[in-house]
Amino acid sequence: MVRARAVVTGGAGFLGSHLCERLLGEGMEVICLDNLLTGSLANIEHLFGHEGFVFVKVDVTDFIHVPGPVRFVLHFASPASPIDYLELPIQTLKVGSLGTHKALGLAKAKGARFLLASTSEVYGDPLVHPQPEEYWGNVNPVGPRGVYDEAKRFAEAMTMAYHRYHGVDTRIVRIFNTYGPRMRAHDGRVVPAFIGQALAGQPLTVFGDGQQTRSFCFVDDEIDGIIRLLFSEITDPVNIGNPAEMTVLEFAQVIRRLAGNHVAIEHRPLPVDDPKVRQPDISLARTRLGWAPRVPLEDGLRRTIEYFRAARPAAGR
Ligand code: UDP
Repeated sequence: MVRARAVVTGGAGFLGSHLCERLLGEGMEVICLDNLLTGSLANIEHLFGHEGFVFVKVDVTDFIHVPGPVRFVLHFASPASPIDYLELPIQTLKVGSLGTHKALGLAKAKGARFLLASTSEVYGDPLVHPQPEEYWGNVNPVGPRGVYDEAKRFAEAMTMAYHRYHGVDTRIVRIFNTYGPRMRAHDGRVVPAFIGQALAGQPLTVFGDGQQTRSFCFVDDEIDGIIRLLFSEITDPVNIGNPAEMTVLEFAQVIRRLAGNHVAIEHRPLPVDDPKVRQPDISLARTRLGWAPRVPLEDGLRRTIEYFRAARPAAGR
C-alpha cells in the first residue's frame, strides 16, 4: 500500500514537531519544512532515523517545491509567542500571508487537503466570552500584536478563498493557549517563563495585576483535536483548546506549588493589547469531532516541568 504523504510547515516548532510525530504514528510519510527561525532541530532529531521522515530547511514564504504526490498540507509555520512576533513583525506578517499563499498553492497543485493553524488571537481582546467560532473578534490592526492577529485573519480569509474559488479541501483550527514539552525556555510565554523562573528560584513575573485569564491545553490533547479535525469534513473554523479558565495570578500559584519552590511574585507592566479574558467555546469540537481535552492541568504541567528540569541549563532560545 502506498503511504499518504503529509507536508508540515513549521514542522520543527513546538506544535509542528508533535504533529510530525503523530502523523508518522498514523503511518504517513512526513515532509517537515522549517527555516529554523523559531523552530529547532532539537525538536525533531529523534525523528531523523524514521524512514518516513524528511526534513527540508526552507523558508515557506518563498516558493515551496515538493516532488511527488502529497495528500495533506498542514501550515504551522509562524512565530507564535508575543515577544517573538514583536521581535519578528515582518516575518510574522510574511509567513501568515505569503507563506499561507504558497502552502495553499502547493495543496492546490497536489490536490491535497490543507489545514491552517489559526489562533484564538483572531478574537483579539474579546468582547464575547467564552469565544464561539461565530464571534468576529476585537482586534487592534495597528497595535504591536496586530502583526500576528491580522496575519492569521488574512490566512483564514485566504484559506476560505482557495476553498470557495479553487475548490481546495480546507480545514481551519483556531488554537488556544497550548503548553507542553518542547516549548522554548525563553520564548516569553507564560508557561515556560513561570516554570523557568520557579526552577531557577527567581520571582515569577506576573504582568499587570494578574487578573487577566487564560485557558491552558496540554499539547497531546491539542494534537488529538487537530488530527480529528484533519480527518473530519468541517471546512468552517473550529476552536481547539481547554476551557478550564484561570487568572494568570492563580496560574502562578499552581506553578509555584508544582515546582516545589515558593518564589516571590513580581508584577511587571501589562503588554499593550494583552487580552483580558480568553476561554474557548468548544461546543463545535465536542459535538462534531467528539473531542474534549482529557489531560488535567496539573498532570500536563508536571510533565512540562520535568521536561524543563531535564533540559536546563541547556535549553536555549
Ligand atoms: N504573562 C505574565 N508573565 C509572563 C509572561 C506572560 O504574566 O512572564 C501573562 C501575559 O500578560 C498574558 C498571559 O500571561 O496575560 C499569557 O501570555 P502568553 O505570552 O503565554 O500568551 P498570550 O495568551 O498572551 O498569547
